[in-house]
Amino acid sequence: MKRVVLLLYIASFLSISSWVYAVQSYSVPGGVSVVPLDVTSSLPPVVHYRERRVLVSRADNGWQAVVGIPLNVKPGVHQLIVKSENSKKQMVRFKVNPKEYEEEYITIKNKNKVSPDKKSMERIGREKKQMGKAYRTWSDVSDMNLNFDLPVKAVRSSPFGLKRFFNNQPRKPHSGIDIAAPEGTPIHAPATGKVILTGDFFFNGNSVFIDHGQGLITMYCHMARIDVQEDQVIERGAVLGTIGQTGRATGPHLHWSVSLNKTRVNPEYFLSESSIKVLNSER
Ligand SMILES: [Zn+2]
Repeated sequence: MKRVVLLLYIASFLSISSWVYAVQSYSVPGGVSVVPLDVTSSLPPVVHYRERRVLVSRADNGWQAVVGIPLNVKPGVHQLIVKSENSKKQMVRFKVNPKEYEEEYITIKNKNKVSPDKKSMERIGREKKQMGKAYRTWSDVSDMNLNFDLPVKAVRSSPFGLKRFFNNQPRKPHSGIDIAAPEGTPIHAPATGKVILTGDFFFNGNSVFIDHGQGLITMYCHMARIDVQEDQVIERGAVLGTIGQTGRATGPHLHWSVSLNKTRVNPEYFLSESSIKVLNSER
């Protein structure tokens, strides 16, 4: 009896593992999963995850999906819906591994930035819609470059994914990384793209949104000065503006967010080892 149970267990394990395509070390909540697709068409397949269109790039033997994993999903087997030229919809499973994030307690002197009044709440609502629209941008770019440069070569002052408490009240987890540098330090574009939104936002202060193609969007916040305009096409390394502390900030820093399939993910998964070294250097 025991042997039968064991064999069934092994059989189910084997069948699941054959569905699990890429199990990357960063396939975690808040991470990025690169999933090889069994598609040989010359045109890229159309891929969806949780009803959101997913970035697809060339792989050695065809195509791969580059999927942003939300911070709030349960680890386990997740699935993509893949539609390629002249073929039926196909389900591709991949694994999301568990990851724990730490807690952070921040004291903000301006109470309206923690518990905003009615007028501020209306403004926050309007801005949320604007930002949501920016994150929903989809542009068909075939030559995707997923290797980013560090926008500011300085130390990380707060990591991605921290469970945050402002004046002891729980708020959304940290959806980007903070890089601390003196006010006025230039902020550079990490890759080629197009400016899709600029503005002065209640929490984020002066901010810039860049579309890099296929739903890969980056955001720069708390800037002292913005040096680019909406619809402007920018090259890798172009100056977007300068470090500041506008919006809800406790000191001059850049809050940098990266979004894939409308999901904020850890920007560090797009950086080289030498850039991570800079972030980890001492102040
Ligand atoms: Zn931040």
